[in-house]
Amino acid sequence: MIQRENFKAEADKALRWIDGYFENLRKLPVKARVKPGEIYDRIPSEAPAEGESIDRILEDLDAAIIPGITHWQHPSFHAYFPANSSYESLLGEMVTAAIGAQCMIWETSPAAAELEQRMTEWVAAAAGLPKTFTGVIQDSASSSTLVAIITAREKATGFKSNLDGVPRGLRVYCSSEAHSSVEKGVGVAGLGRNNLVRIETDGEQRMRPDRLEKAICDDIAAGYTPACVVAAIGTTGTLAVDPLTEIAAVCKKYNVWLHVDAAFAGTALFLPEYRYIVNGLEHADSLVFNPHKWMFVNFDCSLYYVKDPDMLVRTFDILPEYLKTATRGQVNDYRDWGIPLGRRFRALKLWFVLRGFGLEGIRRRLREQIALNEYFAENIVASGQFTLLRPPFLGFTLFRVNVDDDAASEKLLAAVNASGEAYLSHTKVNGRFAIRFHATQTYIQKEDIDKTVETLLKNIAPPQSPTE
Ligand SMILES: *Cc1c(COP(=O)(O)O)cnc(C)c1O
Repeated sequence: MIQRENFKAEADKALRWIDGYFENLRKLPVKARVKPGEIYDRIPSEAPAEGESIDRILEDLDAAIIPGITHWQHPSFHAYFPANSSYESLLGEMVTAAIGAQCMIWETSPAAAELEQRMTEWVAAAAGLPKTFTGVIQDSASSSTLVAIITAREKATGFKSNLDGVPRGLRVYCSSEAHSSVEKGVGVAGLGRNNLVRIETDGEQRMRPDRLEKAICDDIAAGYTPACVVAAIGTTGTLAVDPLTEIAAVCKKYNVWLHVDAAFAGTALFLPEYRYIVNGLEHADSLVFNPHKWMFVNFDCSLYYVKDPDMLVRTFDILPEYLKTATRGQVNDYRDWGIPLGRRFRALKLWFVLRGFGLEGIRRRLREQIALNEYFAENIVASGQFTLLRPPFLGFTLFRVNVDDDAASEKLLAAVNASGEAYLSHTKVNGRFAIRFHATQTYIQKEDIDKTVETLLKNIAPPQSPTE
């Protein structure tokens, strides 16, 4: 065990390891190149009986663990979505672990509850959210969406489902492009996955409000109870933006809870020029967006905003004797604002990042990345080898190889990812293979874009003869 008097020296070793990791990150293969079971087999089958030194542990970290890591902080990581960290966030996380507070209720750490309240207010103001929204930090967008579905369920059943069980026939609606967490949430909330209604999208993968209204009307006529609509602002596949104003009008007409999933794209609201993507948000009941995606705060940190926190607390509060406190009712006891009782002090890293970057610092980095993405799109188009499937949007480009054959794009993607030089992912757009690219890693530079363009072109080119 490390003792107090050795802590600084031992911590310095870990800090040096972290510094070396960032220094050498660009040299590591972005995507792990291991076979299933390979890392497992390198780890001893039993824990050591006696304590080992930090030096030994760090050696094994390099030898056994790092080869099996896909490096999400690598500037050539362009796949899926960003899961950004930053030096500020990392330091905040270290302090959080040092304090190790359990932030269940106000009394178990008043500063954690009050900083959380302030941070949700700072972000709401910075993102121009409606003044009627109140925030709380959850662990993930999946949890936030589950919380929204359960609250909608309680509202639709007069708060009886919690007591008596879920009645049959409650319905939830989302587009055919919505995130899998909606379907999972509907199942976990006890509504039955078959009661999730997938609404058809238009040519740009946006939910069709006319189809939504028809589905709701048909359901009402058939005896179902519409409980919740989940609109996506930036779908995971193609960053499609559902038309919120029209969807909100339908929700209002039929008195259905409207939850907005902006898990990735929500960070764009820091930029006033992108706030149009949530026009109509003031009519929504809840919103989720993840600072742990594009806001330089490392996982986990998901912001959940609700118009009516009483509805939320009525859904989730439960009061065992040992948690009865004199301050109840005067303070926010956040265990009543979500599912787990135990809560991490996530507000602290948000505080470190918001102060360390400043709002303008965050905005500058977002605009730089948006510009880098446009630069990427221009370059691949200029090569004559690729077609864009959408204009570049936020830090994201959707494209394919410029031939009428999906196999070419599929092969290229596999070759690039196997090269270790860059990592991109794919989706299907109207049934056809499409390559997804994000220029959103925290410390990405123009040189990294140049390198990825080069890697793409190198892997697409027909093999050269060795004499050339
Ligand atoms: C990433 C993503 C999610 C899931 O986020 P988690 O925090 O990992 O649960 C949900 N919805 C959208 C649109 C996303 O991009």
